[in-house]
Amino acid sequence: MLTSLRRIIQDVAAAGSFREALDIIVRDVRTTLGTEVCSVYLLSPEADRYLFVATEGLNQEAVGKLSLKLGQGLVTLVAERAEPLNLQDASNHPRFHYLPEIGEEPFNAFLGVPVIHHRQVLGVLIVQQRDNRRFDEEEEALLVTLAAQLATIIAHAEATGDIRKLFHGDTGTEAMATDVMFRGIPGSPGIAIGTVLVVQPPASLEGVPEREAEDVTTELILLDRAINAVRGDLRRISQQFSKSLPPEELALFDAYLHMLDDNALAGDIRERVRRGLWAQGALKQVIREHVRRFEAMEDAYLRERGADVEDLGLRVLGYLQDISTRKLHFHDETILVGYEVTPSMLANIPPGKLRGIVSVRGSGSSHVAILARALDIPAVMGAVDLPIATIEGQSMIIDGIYGELYLNPSAQLQESYRALIVAENQFATELEQLKELPAITLDGWRVGLWVNIGLPGDITRSLDRGAEGIGLFRTEVPFMTKERFPTEEEQRVIYREHMVAFEPRPVTMRSLDIGGDKALSYFPIDEENPFLGWRGIRVTLDHPEIFMVQARAMIKANAGLQGDLRIMLPMISSMNEVEEAKALIHRAYIEVLEEGVQVKQPLVGVMVEVPAAVYQARALARRVDFLAVGSNDLTQYMLAVDRNNPRVASLYQETHPAVLAALLEVARAAHRENTYVGICGELAGNPIGAVLLMAMGYQVLSMNATNLPKVKWVVRNIRRSDARRMLVRVLKMNTAQEVQSYMRAQLVRAGLERVVPTYHA
Ligand code: PEP
Ligand code: MG
Repeated sequence: MLTSLRRIIQDVAAAGSFREALDIIVRDVRTTLGTEVCSVYLLSPEADRYLFVATEGLNQEAVGKLSLKLGQGLVTLVAERAEPLNLQDASNHPRFHYLPEIGEEPFNAFLGVPVIHHRQVLGVLIVQQRDNRRFDEEEEALLVTLAAQLATIIAHAEATGDIRKLFHGDTGTEAMATDVMFRGIPGSPGIAIGTVLVVQPPASLEGVPEREAEDVTTELILLDRAINAVRGDLRRISQQFSKSLPPEELALFDAYLHMLDDNALAGDIRERVRRGLWAQGALKQVIREHVRRFEAMEDAYLRERGADVEDLGLRVLGYLQDISTRKLHFHDETILVGYEVTPSMLANIPPGKLRGIVSVRGSGSSHVAILARALDIPAVMGAVDLPIATIEGQSMIIDGIYGELYLNPSAQLQESYRALIVAENQFATELEQLKELPAITLDGWRVGLWVNIGLPGDITRSLDRGAEGIGLFRTEVPFMTKERFPTEEEQRVIYREHMVAFEPRPVTMRSLDIGGDKALSYFPIDEENPFLGWRGIRVTLDHPEIFMVQARAMIKANAGLQGDLRIMLPMISSMNEVEEAKALIHRAYIEVLEEGVQVKQPLVGVMVEVPAAVYQARALARRVDFLAVGSNDLTQYMLAVDRNNPRVASLYQETHPAVLAALLEVARAAHRENTYVGICGELAGNPIGAVLLMAMGYQVLSMNATNLPKVKWVVRNIRRSDARRMLVRVLKMNTAQEVQSYMRAQLVRAGLERVVPTYHA
């Protein structure tokens, strides 16, 4: 059964058009269930009727012509109830609606299941048959399973306008006149218009489906082309390194070339294609078998060669999948689009060319979104319906405020978005005047506005926007751009550059925070559940050699400067971790002194990112110099919502009452112990969040440089007493939605509507 299901989904996914996909669905489902009729009805874009869009077994003439109004017939009953309807004799049911043109009289048994995507019914899948027997439970379960999987494909067709075309015709002007919008999750605010550049993840053998060759000769030609392309690459690389690599290393390329010979891998793969497999499937099988054979060998050196075979296989697969190692060409106004855009992809883009980022995976709290905000680049995450395989080179509007995208927008739409860009730029220019002014409320309460930093170029941007300190230096970013751990001296130089630029302002250096969604290519961590795994301080305490080098580099970098060095520990979940890390930092400090470098003792603080730390905030506050809430992770762990998962993005709510209660708890604990308390999660840079945090008594709000001027403008135009009044009201609320709408209304009332944009209905 599973195989049939998979085959149907694969066939549908490979269809050349949505029309064809619908025909495949009805044909395959009818065959798999051994029934007489299978049909699909889809909800109209106006949501007023269900159109008969495909059938196998009923009158084909009626396809695209017949429809049922809401409330009419069994089909709409399935949709209304959003659950399966399984009847032995459909014509006896009170909701049965007779449609003479469709020809369903002989088929009494009826099974209908809704097609639902994100809680919305998009259509109904029906099977029918002649003999008066009910469809059995297994058939019902199969249809439900299938409908759940087809929902994504149908939702996709809705997003691309294909469903609209079914209703209004291929050439219908209505379809053309409507700008098709793809929805995602706001990742980084701002609007941009540019040209799409699709970045692909590396090919994966795992993802290659089992499939027969449609045409063996074509598959053989494709295979030869791919192998020749890889041969060419290997020769080129070997030549390129011929002067810099010793001969024994260069021999590896010859070994690779030999493996591609006909009497080695290539011969085996070709043989399997001749027997009927498609080239990618044959490649996968052969590579797997060879890797397994190598891995079973006793000799460690030979075992390692399994990785070479795999690497070679991936290179060939890359060409077969036409995602060759092509050099990316960046347009002047590039909108980078990918299935999963990663922080390391951003590190390679020529400065000044990137206008926007769109990722199919991920959400507003993914690290790539955080980096986008730091770079002041609009980003939309979780754009799950975007057909990324077919949009290279097309123009796109990206609206990072509402998380919306428009492909090939009409001139009219471009014009209205350009007007919004102009208005945003004008506001930004006005805000520049605040640069030198303090963040002080109308009634004299002062709050520190610091920056979160990490990328090259952040320093100037941060100082230009009036940052009063660094509240979070994400040290993993310089680690990510290397091919091995950076040396102590390499780290010292980067850290010092920041400290000197910010002198005499305080600089908070976070110890290496890898794991979760932050990977180092040279230190892979492969885990089932990475956000609950080896992350942050857990990794560095297990590797004191990495921690010590970093701590020494930080302490040395601060030599001779007045600004405070604050070392901050991520992902703390127990007092033991704090004690161990403090001991290592102290040892590093003593070592540096013993080397004769005159340095001050650093301040040490912890990040409150997991619920355990909230409940131990007072004890922690007693043992450290400062607390800093990492609200991005704290929200994820309080609400048990993966910060990268678009499916649950609407549940990731930074102003959820439980999160606000935790934030208040931490602030109070720190106040009781007279310990400095700040926050460096994204909530700090959100005007609504900033007002509430200031009311709670957070002394430092650390955020990306982009948001800083807006937050300063809000702080300078509000009274803290009013903010505290709002907080009291908010703390009585039960949902994040209530909090958001109340706070928006309050900011608008205070004349601050420019920070809560409302250009959208
Ligand atoms: C946080 O979790 O809020 C935080 C600032 O750290 P990061 O986003 O880098 O995980
Ligand atoms: Mg964090």
